[in-house]
Amino acid sequence: MWKTEKSEAAFKAAQKILPGGVNSPVRAFRSVGRNPLFIDHGKGAYLFDVDGNRYIDYVLSWGPMILGHGQEQVVAAIKQTAEKGTSFGAPSPLETQLAELIQKQVPSMELMRMVSSGTEATMSAIRLARGVTKRDKIIKFDGCYHGHSDSFLVNAGSGVATFELTDSPGVPTALAKETLSVPYNDLAAVKDIFTRNKQEIAAVIVEPIAGNMGVIPGNKEFLQGLRTLTKEAGALLIFDEVMTGFRCNYTGAQGLYEITPDLTTLGKVVGGGLPAAVFGGKREYMKQIAPEGAIYQAGTLSGNPLAMAAGIATLQQLNAAKYQKMTAHVERLLNGIKQLSIELEIPIQTVQSGTMFGFFFNKQAVTNFEQAKASDQVLFAKFYRNLLAEGIYIAPSQFEANFISTMHTEAEIDWTIKGFRNALIKATKEVK
Ligand SMILES: *Cc1c(COP(=O)(O)O)cnc(C)c1O
Repeated sequence: MWKTEKSEAAFKAAQKILPGGVNSPVRAFRSVGRNPLFIDHGKGAYLFDVDGNRYIDYVLSWGPMILGHGQEQVVAAIKQTAEKGTSFGAPSPLETQLAELIQKQVPSMELMRMVSSGTEATMSAIRLARGVTKRDKIIKFDGCYHGHSDSFLVNAGSGVATFELTDSPGVPTALAKETLSVPYNDLAAVKDIFTRNKQEIAAVIVEPIAGNMGVIPGNKEFLQGLRTLTKEAGALLIFDEVMTGFRCNYTGAQGLYEITPDLTTLGKVVGGGLPAAVFGGKREYMKQIAPEGAIYQAGTLSGNPLAMAAGIATLQQLNAAKYQKMTAHVERLLNGIKQLSIELEIPIQTVQSGTMFGFFFNKQAVTNFEQAKASDQVLFAKFYRNLLAEGIYIAPSQFEANFISTMHTEAEIDWTIKGFRNALIKATKEVK
């Protein structure tokens, strides 16, 4: 019998001192109508909550834990580095080492700067684009999430969507007006904005494979069109690969689509489970960052040695063969889900991009945020609660991506398909 008493108690205590009991909204599980689980530890493909329940983990800290939890070499690297001191506020060779490993797979990042979160990376990339072009307006896409800085909280997908805030109080209207948000995969809409705002657009920022409204890959023509339009208009193209970098495949979305953006942001996997992120790109732009240039950007803990060590140990263990294997495992899982959809007569759209995946309780294929929002959220919440009881931990919303690690084997996948079947059957019974 699945019991969560200790999680309930921990949540009660947390709510007294943390807003909503959490330090990031989606963790509160509100969209699935139950309280969150409090985690004690993770090992390999599994999470263990404070009540001792075990779950196959497809959230993986929202992407970073690509080698699974408590991975031996990563933990060893963190320990060894910690013995030498945890922060100096001075350069260390680890920063260069991680940058070199990143550049090998993402060569468009000719120069790069380390920061501590994806939010910082995108915020800084936008400042750079505005500084370089001396323009203020940016174009983003409905349902794309680029962290929680002011300029991006306009139609920002997942966490925000789940809470039905199209915008957040506290964002100055004057600033929000500089952000133009258009439907994803809609090149004509972008063209139209460029025509009407000639010489005003500093940058187009896009998740080339969206992962914050569920998984929705960008069309190749759409992304190529963005490259052409930005070039023509003297605007910068920013690929936000905080999620997709070292995730959808080894070279990120830009390698997959063979499109070279001006700037790229990375996070999640590159920190190996510690707080690290990075922005970088064309040398002529990046050298305008202080101290080489005038555009200011700084951070007390930027390039933190522990985070660099975790990132290095993670990237060093990744290779094309591992991505292939993880991709095949996701395929196996999604094939299983498709069969369940037919067997149980529940419309489910599955989406995969390498080691990332999602699914929608939806009759139609989903190519943008509008369509994603039309998915059956009541059924999802019921399904989700039953799935937890089966020992399977996926993202608590259809608007979030799920991930796999090198530690998930066919045994975990097949167990997951069984769990999905049980949870779907129970959920549909609850609906009727
Ligand atoms: C997670 C994410 C961010 C924000 O990163 P944080 O480290 O949570 O600040 C930005 N962009 C994308 C595409 C993301 O998936």
